[in-house]
Amino acid sequence: MQIIRIPRIMQDTAKGYSLRGKSTGFVPTMGALHEGHMSLVRRAKQENDISVVSIFVNPIQFGPSEDFQKYPRDMEGDAEKLRREGVDILFMPDIAAMYPEGFVTYVEVGEISGKLCGAFRPGHFRGVATVVAKLFNIMKPVRAYFGQKDFQQTVVISKMVKDLAMDIDVVTCPTIRERDGLAMSSRNAYLNEGHREASAVIYRCLREASDLIKSGIIEIQAVKKAMHEELLGEPAVSGIDYAGIYDPETLNEPSEIKEAILLAVAVRIGDTRLIDNIVINVKKER
Ligand code: AMP
Repeated sequence: MQIIRIPRIMQDTAKGYSLRGKSTGFVPTMGALHEGHMSLVRRAKQENDISVVSIFVNPIQFGPSEDFQKYPRDMEGDAEKLRREGVDILFMPDIAAMYPEGFVTYVEVGEISGKLCGAFRPGHFRGVATVVAKLFNIMKPVRAYFGQKDFQQTVVISKMVKDLAMDIDVVTCPTIRERDGLAMSSRNAYLNEGHREASAVIYRCLREASDLIKSGIIEIQAVKKAMHEELLGEPAVSGIDYAGIYDPETLNEPSEIKEAILLAVAVRIGDTRLIDNIVINVKKER
């Protein structure tokens, strides 16, 4: 596995592959890799000639009071995992290489960036869209892989790719979970034992809401109320940013439940903010 740190070198390497007709599959990450990340990596390897993974904890997607400084980092462990998986290139730029002095250009994906997580993390998706656009320009991938766990991120990136006519297939991969249903996340490392156990409430809440809908309860407010009650029944939940039913395309709360819907939750367990979601196809599943 080749490790590249300089954007210019990465770009020239990627251009070389592209000129030789080799397809590149790209997985952008912030590192502290777990099985969720690795599922994306395996898919990128399977579907492309060359697999490229980036590890970059992107400062501009963190708010001033967020966890940029303490975000888990394990460069050596990550490199080893990727090497074992047979990844071709690991791109690990430093901050100054990605945002040199005088950097002033940002990508803003209107409307949807302000919904759900965007309402609680102002500027977050602007930071995400900007870094992903820059990484896409460096890597020129044929396909890029994202996890459904960060559902809004996949919507924002897909919209950016469509609006700016980027010639890239955005592939969304299923959420990988722990045994008790908790979605794998680098931030799970923040949880102490009690909070780790308590955080199973998130997926339980999503499953129960899904069961209610499948059993015929289609009153949005009733389902939402049940979700809030389930979450608040767990004493470790210190706050709910949102929990409810959304249109998977617009991320708005629909007026009625029909066809595909997104059930999504963002909560704080102690000081740790965790998100999760499931998409259900109401027509098919009821
Ligand atoms: P991150 O390192 O948190 O920026 O995540 C990098 C990529 O891995 C994003 O596309 C995430 O959606 C994806 N990812 C994170 N956790 C999971 C998971 N549990 N299952 C599947 N994909 C995931």
